[in-house]
Amino acid sequence: MVPARSLSGRHVALFGLGDSGIATARALIEGGAKVLAWDDNPESVANAETHGIATGDLRQADWSGFSSFVLSPGVPLTHPKPHWTVELARSAGVEVIGDVELFSRERRAGAPDAPFIAITGTNGKSTTTALTAHIIKASGRDAQMGGNIGRAVMTLDPPETTRNYIVECSSYQIDLAPSINPTAGILLNLTPDHLDRHGTMQHYASIKERLVAGSETAIIGVDDIYCAQIADRLEKAGKDVIRISKRLPLTDGYFADGTDLMEARHGRYSRIAFLEGIGSLRGQHNAQNALAAVTACLRIGLDLGEIQSGLESFPGLAHRMEQVGRRDHVLFINDSKATNADAAAPALSSFNRIYWIAGGLPKEGGIEPLRPFFPRIAKAYLIGEAAPVFSATLGEAVPYEISGTLEAAIEHAASDAAQDDADEAVVLLSPACASFDQFKNFEVRGEAFRQAVRAIDRMKLIGGER
Ligand code: ADP
Repeated sequence: MVPARSLSGRHVALFGLGDSGIATARALIEGGAKVLAWDDNPESVANAETHGIATGDLRQADWSGFSSFVLSPGVPLTHPKPHWTVELARSAGVEVIGDVELFSRERRAGAPDAPFIAITGTNGKSTTTALTAHIIKASGRDAQMGGNIGRAVMTLDPPETTRNYIVECSSYQIDLAPSINPTAGILLNLTPDHLDRHGTMQHYASIKERLVAGSETAIIGVDDIYCAQIADRLEKAGKDVIRISKRLPLTDGYFADGTDLMEARHGRYSRIAFLEGIGSLRGQHNAQNALAAVTACLRIGLDLGEIQSGLESFPGLAHRMEQVGRRDHVLFINDSKATNADAAAPALSSFNRIYWIAGGLPKEGGIEPLRPFFPRIAKAYLIGEAAPVFSATLGEAVPYEISGTLEAAIEHAASDAAQDDADEAVVLLSPACASFDQFKNFEVRGEAFRQAVRAIDRMKLIGGER
């Protein structure tokens, strides 16, 4: 745990008692603060009390006595409108912060030299965070990974100079971390997303920009216009900016040339790492994630040998183009996390001969945006409620069947792919749909895929149990 000593002796209000809220309240108490916590859900309040956290309805509280208000990142700070607690805090002049802010303050006070890598972006945050932590850990160093992935940040081990912190930050967490100052801040990419929670694209981008603006070194993916502009702006303001690109040969920075990761200095190039043969890092999108991780690892002092060996042993993340098994020339991939067309695009662009299992609860826009990848699809196996609309989009362009269930789809796809004479055929679950019509969530759907694939005769498993 990271005891939150910066608020020792102060009265602190806290709202949102999920796992990270409870962890934050305990860290505050451990650090000597007097916490009054609340949640709209009575069960969460009761649960907090079993952890020794004082609770009370913050509507009735005297806000003039609080020095800080700690808000859970799941609760609206600005959009669609500020939560009632935020209104109360603002009118009492109380600062509104989150757990990443508390962590940043503790690191500054306790071990300002402890390497701190913070990662954000619209897509690829978890992969980049997990990959960076994996490379650091594989090099024999202490890697503390948390934030928006895995452990709540205040449950990590307390800051020490030899500890490396790798923290995934959602926009909500950045919005609540006004003084975040990582050693290396990574901004991977920006595309319109979550605008319901952030109003305009400009507002969303400006929140993400804060993470890199506050960092000692800003590592920015410049493949989209929003990030490219942020890189230019920060550089003009005198910041240390490192640009990365998954497709452009840069004059200065790091870029991908196919599966080679290149360093550019004043227009001279050298290869620093490669992704050839690394199954967990296939695809251009993963080149972007790997470039970011490699750049951050270099920034905190790892050498190229350590980095390459970490890349090669990265197991990948579950449900994101996860390699489940191989039978002869057929590879089975679980990309259950792809719950809309945009999220399915990277997987469809990463393989050439695809037996595609898609469907579930359809989202607006359907699979029309995936049309450019249709030539890669040998056949589609449609499941769930989306089957009729997806079949209408596929039309004459792609052979398909309405399989109905995931089990039937896997069985038919496996048998068809086995007869494909391509060097490699891929049975890919990348549903482009939510799962709720047939499964509780994307994890359960992915697990069902794994189990069914594992049960296939002569399957060679990849990655082992998770
Ligand atoms: P996040 O944590 O930002 O949601 P993940 O690492 O969990 O991102 O990846 C989720 C999905 O987003 C992946 O399955 C893949 O389809 C897509 N993706 C991953 N990295 C990138 C990237 N750099 N650019 C675009 N899409 C990506």
